Amino acid sequence: MEWFGYTGKILNVDLSENKLEVLDADPKVYEKYMGGTGYAAHIIHENLKKIKDPEDESNIMVFATGPLTIDGIPNGGRVTVGTISPETGIWGETHIGTRFAIEMKKAGFDAIIVKGKAEKPVYLFLHDGNAEIRDASKYWGRDIHETIESLRTDLNDSTIKALAIGPAGEKKVKISIIANEEGFGGRCGLGAVMGSKNLKAIVAKGTQTVPVAHPEELKEFLKELIKKLTKGGTGLRRYGSAGGVKGYHVLGNLPIRNFLWGKWDDEKVAKISGESLTENYLKSPFACTFCPIACKRLVEVKNGKYFKEFVGLGPEYETVGLLGSNLLVDDLEAIIKANNMCDRLGLDTISTGNVIGFLFDAAERGIVDKNLEGLTLEWGNAETVHKLIEKIAYREGIGDILAEGVKKAAEKLGAPELAVEIKGLEMPAHDGRAYWSHGLSHITMNRGADHLGWPHMPFKGISVPELGIKAFDNRYIDGDELIETVIKMQNLMIIYDSLIICKYAFAAGLTVTDIIKLLYFVTGKEYTPEKLMEIANRIWKVQRKINNELGITAKDDKLPLRMATPHANRTDTQVPPIEKWLPRYYELRGLTEDGIVKEID
Ligand code: SF4
Repeated sequence: MEWFGYTGKILNVDLSENKLEVLDADPKVYEKYMGGTGYAAHIIHENLKKIKDPEDESNIMVFATGPLTIDGIPNGGRVTVGTISPETGIWGETHIGTRFAIEMKKAGFDAIIVKGKAEKPVYLFLHDGNAEIRDASKYWGRDIHETIESLRTDLNDSTIKALAIGPAGEKKVKISIIANEEGFGGRCGLGAVMGSKNLKAIVAKGTQTVPVAHPEELKEFLKELIKKLTKGGTGLRRYGSAGGVKGYHVLGNLPIRNFLWGKWDDEKVAKISGESLTENYLKSPFACTFCPIACKRLVEVKNGKYFKEFVGLGPEYETVGLLGSNLLVDDLEAIIKANNMCDRLGLDTISTGNVIGFLFDAAERGIVDKNLEGLTLEWGNAETVHKLIEKIAYREGIGDILAEGVKKAAEKLGAPELAVEIKGLEMPAHDGRAYWSHGLSHITMNRGADHLGWPHMPFKGISVPELGIKAFDNRYIDGDELIETVIKMQNLMIIYDSLIICKYAFAAGLTVTDIIKLLYFVTGKEYTPEKLMEIANRIWKVQRKINNELGITAKDDKLPLRMATPHANRTDTQVPPIEKWLPRYYELRGLTEDGIVKEID
């Protein structure tokens, strides 16, 4: 059959058997699940009974692109990785913004399914419809940047694109990432799954063209769309996502002191803001492939406290929140350093800042010795933060405990009430007490504490008319209006993760109508807003079903104690009354009262 927007080929890799096979994709699966997170969830659900332990060879990883992973489509260079998380033991996913996704598809594959475990370190090499399993012993132990640079040198090709793990993934650190020098797949510890399979990297080099249904119309449409997103992305391009730091601080959304406080010193917040990053360190905005927004920051430090000379990617909002204000670190250069260490060693900056915040909190309360292994555990101590990052990545001393993630670390150290997590995943830099929509969304997103349902957008004044989502000027809207808005936003973001498109395109003005046009020009298929919601709802249910089969029920849909308690130093934020909303949320999602999926169509 003729494919538009897809290659129609799936690479099936069995590392235990050292075997590769190319399978034909099933068009009915794409119709129901589209790609990206939808495709990955479908494959994991189909194989769930075979997965005995997320860290042994029975686990399966799915690297999936989507129909809009196509050269020239703005914000479309992304790949999803779906699996069972070794950190949470439930559905785990990450989405990496990188040119690798386009190369993987041009190399001939919509998705890669990886099973088994190699006897020794290996990497996958994909090129023009072919794939090979190659020895990666010499790269084992190297950080992510060194690994990719070495692969380029050894393959004598500076244009190859790769995803890799660092020492943290190799050591099965449960907050480790899969990344390259431009994109970072954090959350759920998926680097540890690659590590447990002895899979150091995947390299792609592609020259094939993915056919689209209406190329001329697509070309014309993209001219206007790129203009619109360029204009809509001006703020993000100027200050990066960290441009949100000051505003979110005003609202009580920024994490401070392990989420205990809702307010910090304005001057300290200004020091670590996106404005300060731009004024003091910005070399240039940096864009993922075909992105007209360019929210990433290429920063430069010269003769600094932590670098003699440094040029590289700077921290995003989440990183400033978790490795900055959450730890009371007000030194932006120290945050740049911590960010770079995590990126190279292969650690999730959100989870790392969260687990260090827990440790500082525990030390302040006398649960852990303040002077530990030569470190002073105290708020604002950036040197300690840097040393802890290394200890976590290499599982040394206290780092070995923190490497298990905040839930298990807090249980082990006897302070579970200080762990700010949901279903085992560390809380990111968005607070349910600042936006009630975040409270409901955090507990109902399927990978655990997760801001990427983007449920706060309508409460920041962005409406989505095609889906009947209104803009609100009150962050504490209650009842059905809130619940329906959260479900619709979660569904829309599931579509973004299935296409796959970066969510900042939404903030820059990409509409549902634009998405439907893009899908038509690329795949030739007609979609409607209702059809997109039907697909998204199905994907959400498959992910929830995976979780149900792994033991998740209504009892697990709850906020951590810290977020279910008012901020300690402000009274104008409000704890979300979650219990009140869940029965209606379950009803609208088609779950039983216990939070179990009734059926999937
Ligand atoms: S908006 Fe930022 S994260 Fe998204 S594609 Fe562009 S540069 Fe990458």
